[in-house]
Formats: sequence, C-alpha cells, structure tokens
Amino acid sequence: MTAEIIDGKAFAATVRAKVAEHVANLKEVHGITPGLAVVLVGEDPASQVYVRNKGKQTLEVGMNSFEHKLDADTPEADLLALIDQLNNDPAVHGILVQLPLPDHLNSDLVINSINPAKDADGFHISNVGLLGTGQKSMVPCTPLGCLMMLRDHLGSLSGKNAVVVGRSNIVGKPMANLLLKDSCTVTIAHSRTQDLPGVCRGADILVAAVGRPEMIKGDWVKPGATVIDVGINRIPAPEKGEGKHKLVGDVDFAGAAEIAGAITPVPGGVGPMTIACLLANTVTACCRANGLPEPEGLTA
Ligand code: NDP
Repeated sequence: MTAEIIDGKAFAATVRAKVAEHVANLKEVHGITPGLAVVLVGEDPASQVYVRNKGKQTLEVGMNSFEHKLDADTPEADLLALIDQLNNDPAVHGILVQLPLPDHLNSDLVINSINPAKDADGFHISNVGLLGTGQKSMVPCTPLGCLMMLRDHLGSLSGKNAVVVGRSNIVGKPMANLLLKDSCTVTIAHSRTQDLPGVCRGADILVAAVGRPEMIKGDWVKPGATVIDVGINRIPAPEKGEGKHKLVGDVDFAGAAEIAGAITPVPGGVGPMTIACLLANTVTACCRANGLPEPEGLTA
C-alpha cells in the first residue's frame, strides 16, 4: 500500500482562509479587529524567524499584530509588567510569549501571568486543567493542528486506538487529551516505554512527537494507520553538497508510507498548521471576549 499524503501546507492555507473570513466578518459586522501580541525576549535566531512569520501571517489574515522585542537581559519584573499591560489592553485578544526564554526568566511564572482567556498558545496552567477535564479552553497550537488534520482525514475519531509517542507539555500530553476528548483509546508512549514498536503497531492513529530523526520505522506502523509526524529534525545531507542539511521527521517516511493509509510529510505536514492554529486561537479568543459565537471548525 502507498499512503495518501496529508498535505499540511494546503490544509493550513484553508484554515487561514477561514480565519480571514471570520476576521472580515468581525470587522464588518461588529467593528472589531482581532489582535495578536507576540513577545520575544533575546535574539535566538530560530525564535526570530518564528516571530517574523507569525507577525506576517497575522497581518495577512487581516488581524492586528503587536510585536514586542525585549533585550535578552530584560528583568523578569519588566516582562511581567508588559504582560500585565497586554492583559488589560482591549485591542489585544491573544498573547504569545515566544519560548524558550533566557535562563534568568521563570517560564512557568511568565506563562501563568498571561490572562488565560488571551493565552493563544494554550500553555497557561488553567487552560491545561480545562483541557485535561474536557472543558472549553485555549488549546496548544501544534496538537490542535494535528487534531484538525485527523478529523478532516478520518471524520469521527471515536473508538480508534491512538498512540502518542512523546509526553511533553506542549505536544504529547495535550495531543493525548484532545484524542481522548474525541473518544479515542489513547496510549502515551515515552522513553521508558517497553516494546515501543509493538505499542506503535497497535495504533490506528500514530502521532510521533519525539525529536529523534526517523526513529519510527515502517514496520512499526499498522497497515492502513494514519500517521502524524510532529518531529522537525535538522540532519546533515551530504547528497545535497558539503555542509548541507535537510529536515526530517520522527518517522522513517519512505518506510512508513509503504504501510500506512495516510501520513504527514516533513516538511509540509504539521509544521505549517501550527501558525494557522495560532491565528485560529486568536479569533476564537476574540469571539469569546466579545460574547460572540465561536468560529466553527477552528477549535477543539
Ligand atoms: P520534548 O523533547 O519536550 O519531548 C520528547 C518526548 O519524546 C519526551 O516525552 C521523551 O520521553 C520522548 N522520547 C525521547 N526519546 C524517546 C525514545 N527513544 N523512545 C520513546 N520516546 C522518546 O519534545 P517536544 O514534544 O517539544 O517536540 C517533539 C518534536 O516535535 C521535536 O522534533 C520538535 O522539534 C517537534 N515540534 C514540532 C512543532 C511543529 O510546529 N511541527 C512544534 C513543537 C515541536 P521522556 O519524557 O521519557 O523523556
């Protein structure tokens, strides 16, 4: 069997189009423009690229983008004061603090100082608790993007065996909670899991969020399974020339694509969905803040 390729780039474009439609409606009918504030502390090159892309895509869907760039040695009190200001700014509906933060800043304290209703990343402890108890919350963007692709591809997820490899707070755990909320039978695997290949072979839905290049082999995949590869790993690519690199996922794509029913590629799978879901979360937050119905198909 050759798997269907789930095109995350194309799907993200449809999500952004839906967001843009809602934004236009909010402006036209209600006179409200959703706004996303992104806070970057320091000069981490990867974070700078992410923040630039987020700002660009926010403007492209018609929302307001507020970028706050702070020096790497910004005192914690100054960052908390900025977040307090954004929490109280009615033009700001979503707030994102780009992680990782410099070592002298307490990430948990900073994230938990964001108003949970404006927590566009869904990392605030209140949102984690709400999601964990199956209540309405702000949902972390990457797992939300995976869920949207799974629903789009499979329809109902009810009763399916889902295996999530990885138990991080930003991907693995919220992914597992979302799948549970959609009535999957969920297994969370991690570095201490015994017989990981055997566990993966039981999965109708296999989500890989490990951070180890091509670790999950084709013969770990159940025939016909849907495979979502969250991993983004930069590895040397001598075939492209000396010193060149390429991006690969956590799944051995070529091997898995022979067995799976459907699979997301890397790049072009989960990656583009993450920012699209950040924009979706901001529109959702804006609608909730204004007592308006939430956009359909953009939330969990
Ligand atoms: P973390 O490093 O926080 O977590 C990795 C998880 O994988 C841990 O739970 C760890 O287990 C588990 N793990 C590590 N080695 C093994 C192994 N040999 N067997 C089984 N499990 C193992 O990573 P993240 O969740 O933050 O990210 C995972 C991947 O997803 C990365 O490649 C990252 O770049 C990518 N990513 C992609 C995003 C996107 O937009 N597409 C967004 C976020 C992340 P244990 O807990 O036991 O240590």
